[in-house]
Amino acid sequence: MDLFEYQARDLFAKHGVPVLAGEVIDTPEAARAATERLGGKSVVKAQVKVGGRGKAGGVKLAATPDEAVARATDILGMDIKGHTVHKVMIAETAPEILEEYYVSFLLDRANRTFLSIASVEGGMEIEEVAATRPEAVAKTPIDANKGVTPEVARQIVEAANFPAEVADKVADVLVTLWDVFVKEDALLVEVNPLAKVASGDVIALDGKVSLDANAEFRHTEQHAELEDKAAANPLEAAAKAKGLNYVKLDGEVGIIGNGAGLVMSTLDVVAYAGENHSGVKPANFLDIGGGASAEVMANGLEIILGDPDVKSVFVNVFGGITACDAVANGIVQALELLESKGEEVTKPLVVRLDGNNAELGRQILDDRNHPLVQRVDTMDGAADKAAELAAK
Ligand code: GDP
Ligand code: MN
Repeated sequence: MDLFEYQARDLFAKHGVPVLAGEVIDTPEAARAATERLGGKSVVKAQVKVGGRGKAGGVKLAATPDEAVARATDILGMDIKGHTVHKVMIAETAPEILEEYYVSFLLDRANRTFLSIASVEGGMEIEEVAATRPEAVAKTPIDANKGVTPEVARQIVEAANFPAEVADKVADVLVTLWDVFVKEDALLVEVNPLAKVASGDVIALDGKVSLDANAEFRHTEQHAELEDKAAANPLEAAAKAKGLNYVKLDGEVGIIGNGAGLVMSTLDVVAYAGENHSGVKPANFLDIGGGASAEVMANGLEIILGDPDVKSVFVNVFGGITACDAVANGIVQALELLESKGEEVTKPLVVRLDGNNAELGRQILDDRNHPLVQRVDTMDGAADKAAELAAK
């Protein structure tokens, strides 16, 4: 889960990363009082989950409360790289900025480690610095068991060639930032710019934090509060409420499978089959897990059939612990359950059953002979059929 800058700022403050005061508002007029509270001037910052706001005109200084209202009027409603600005942060203005640095910690999946990235050339996008001046970007793997001790922080500071006069302060920031990373179960914590200001202090002027949704059980209330409900996909929200592992995609073939690996490969074969059928694509990821009871199947079908983009559904099940006859019964009962709830099922279902008790499962579907259910015994064949039906 990616956070807004103001939420990242709050987490930084909680763990002692130096930040400036700020509050988030959603009407231009509220910028006045907020700016007055900050002593009469402020920085008005668009809150969108995308970088490069400054360049796009989403970060503006206001010398008076009136000016803050004018800037907030400009920025609220603005479109930044496809993101509409619904909120702005009214932040304390930084004392004169002398230098802008970059520091971050992230999970480096490819190398199976945590990684620190640091550069004295911050402010602009780090990808750009890495591309044009790779020698200006220091990457340091972090030992998960050791973490970022003052010594490790010192090594990072040296590797990135921070000037001597800020070395201690940057090292302190790194230690507290690592605290944010670990204690909040983050996948990314980034400060850009970490600014050296006239007083000699270093301050995090912009923050980006991405939290690990897999750690939600440790931060249930906090994650619920941080979630951007306005931007949540309604189908994903409904699936979450039913405890389903569902991700909305932008295609037309609804997908249900058991096991994340099988569902991932189902997405691939459907996308591939779609190349022969007007380019249709998978409409979602949905893993109903090992059980695949009638109720879970009905819940899954309900979500998928409720997606107006879906034109056909591919149910791909490999019977393991749960035998295919149980799954076939689940599908039949799920359709009856939906119909009894008054939900008319009109989209064709292509079902592929294989594995434990496949013969029995197929027999159950054949006996039921539901007009919308077609059985295809191979994964590729079923993907092709589902894509063909979606393309019609
Ligand atoms: P981004 O463009 O989305 O990364 O947004 P930032 O929050 O990083 O802001 C962009 C730039 O605006 C920063 O690199 C700073 O140069 C500048 N900036 C941000 N906050 C302040 C501030 O309080 N005072 C001043 N003078 N400049 C700021
Ligand atoms: Mn920035």
